[in-house]
Amino acid sequence: MKRRNFIQNTALGGLGVVAGSTAVAGNLENTQNKTPERASTAPYQLPLVIATWNVPNATEAAYNVLNNGGSVLDAVEQGCRVEEANEQGQSVGIGGLPDRDGNVTLDACIMNSEGDYGAVVYLQNIKHPISVARKVMEETPHVIMAGSGAEKFALSQGFERENLLTEASEKAWKAWLIEAKYKPIINIENHDTIGMLAVDSAGNIAGGCTTSGLAYKMAGRVGDSPIIGSGLFIDNEVGGATATGLGEEVLKTVGSFLIVELMRQGRSPQEACEEAIGRIVSKNKNYKDFQVGYIAVNKKGEIGYYSIHEGFSATCYCADQNRNYPSPYFNKS
Ligand code: ASP
Repeated sequence: MKRRNFIQNTALGGLGVVAGSTAVAGNLENTQNKTPERASTAPYQLPLVIATWNVPNATEAAYNVLNNGGSVLDAVEQGCRVEEANEQGQSVGIGGLPDRDGNVTLDACIMNSEGDYGAVVYLQNIKHPISVARKVMEETPHVIMAGSGAEKFALSQGFERENLLTEASEKAWKAWLIEAKYKPIINIENHDTIGMLAVDSAGNIAGGCTTSGLAYKMAGRVGDSPIIGSGLFIDNEVGGATATGLGEEVLKTVGSFLIVELMRQGRSPQEACEEAIGRIVSKNKNYKDFQVGYIAVNKKGEIGYYSIHEGFSATCYCADQNRNYPSPYFNKS
């Protein structure tokens, strides 16, 4: 199953969101048939890197940073940059599917072991929002910057302005426009954020989350991914969590913060991810119509991942093996 096509028939009410079902995640094919086992729930030896979806190049880049003595913050930034630069991936960075007006707008955030956080929302024309988010965290007195202000800041920091709408994504958007109706319809949704968590050998944790958001979203829409506690949360005393899927549902349950707080109370990363999904499911009669997936890690090196539906997966560079694991899921019907 391709990352972009893992959920269908999503009712997004007035959003009128329809996905380009032709969207292809390039070399990011899910290899779940080749690696059917799940990852261990016992603690892994540190360091480790875990990410949403099948992104071995990204986890490898991050792991290499750790192996070479780099920081967890550098690791997640470098890992996320791999997918942001991958034009074939239509959910992150360059090549991301645009909003319904044809604009590629990117959201990202990063969080370090000290509890600092930086984010950009609705950023256009800059390929690496994760790095701009880091600059927001390190070079400004603020934590979130949006839109043209964020772009202006990025340019002032030496980032290059470039067109992020690739030919393939423009084609998919134009195909969507043929049927596009701005009224409630049963639709097909696209979403596949890259969320990444890294733990170094001393148990320090950092995380990053980067996305082009929901394809054909309304102009101005911001999802969960750049919002602290929703798309990502790290507490170096406890662990970290990050999300992918229908951002509106993650936002409403502050999912990543919830998972970290559950781990603080003694739940394992797996139990905490399952409870956060349960929280969404219990509040939504229509949970069959949308997908959310979480990954989590704690300081001991235990990992967890869980989703509402089949099709989500996590890539873990753990115990010197870089592997993709299909996620267990709630909806067995
Ligand atoms: N969570 C993202 C959002 O709602 C979408 C995704 O996971 O691809 O913007």
